[in-house]
Amino acid sequence: MAPSTYPGSVKKIVVSDLDGTLLDGRTYSFQAAEPALRALKKEQIPLVLCTSKTRAEVEYWRSQLENTDPFIVENGGAVYVPRDCFPFGVPGAASREGYAVIELGTPYQELVSALAGAAREAGCRVLGFHDLSVAEICLRSHLPVNQAVLAKQREYDEPFEILDDGCYRVLEAIERMGKRWTRGDRFYHILGNSSKAEALKRLAALYQQAFGEVQIVALGDGWNDVGFLKAADVPLLVRSPFAAVLKRAVPNGQVTSAPGPHGWNEAVLAAIAA
Ligand SMILES: [Mg+2]
Repeated sequence: MAPSTYPGSVKKIVVSDLDGTLLDGRTYSFQAAEPALRALKKEQIPLVLCTSKTRAEVEYWRSQLENTDPFIVENGGAVYVPRDCFPFGVPGAASREGYAVIELGTPYQELVSALAGAAREAGCRVLGFHDLSVAEICLRSHLPVNQAVLAKQREYDEPFEILDDGCYRVLEAIERMGKRWTRGDRFYHILGNSSKAEALKRLAALYQQAFGEVQIVALGDGWNDVGFLKAADVPLLVRSPFAAVLKRAVPNGQVTSAPGPHGWNEAVLAAIAA
């Protein structure tokens, strides 16, 4: 078999959302999680980022985190597997810029059109990233300019706000058009048939093929994380104002005692020791 980037066997992987989970919901700092991040590296436990962010944004955070593991972008729109990560080729993947890419999402332009159609049909005003300038994205998301530029480079998922209070019938119109919607920390998102859960299932199968049974520890804080948290062996719900709602959806999930990277740190250290 060809060599893998993992020198030893992998028994456990940690799969994590970014905003409000590993990154502070407001400052985007992961400083409080550094002890657990160091422990994961020491134990050679892969850390798979699984987020609504774009590939360009995740590449920025991977370099900040010195992370080289596979990652999931745009709410499950694609799985990016670095070349030579596994000792075999990734079935059904396209080879692109050093990655095997498993594409699961619907093309962005189709989603932008569907959102406009759903808004018209429902008579609700919405505002998608497509319509926003970089400066407006900064204002709405508190992202610095360089990251707002990366956030606009979308391929499989359109974040949006509903401008008319309570005009949720736009969400039903999205479903009638055969698309799906989810809710992240700040925005609603329209997407095709892809999801974080399905993307994780595809990636987990590769780890299992390479290493046999692998325990999946998952961390998330939002409604868009419920699917992959439910699919995990150890679901960890990072504390937020939505924690009670999440706990009802993922009854076996443990809610961390603190929000954001503080809660992440404590929960991951405990999961490594378990
Ligand atoms: Mg989040």
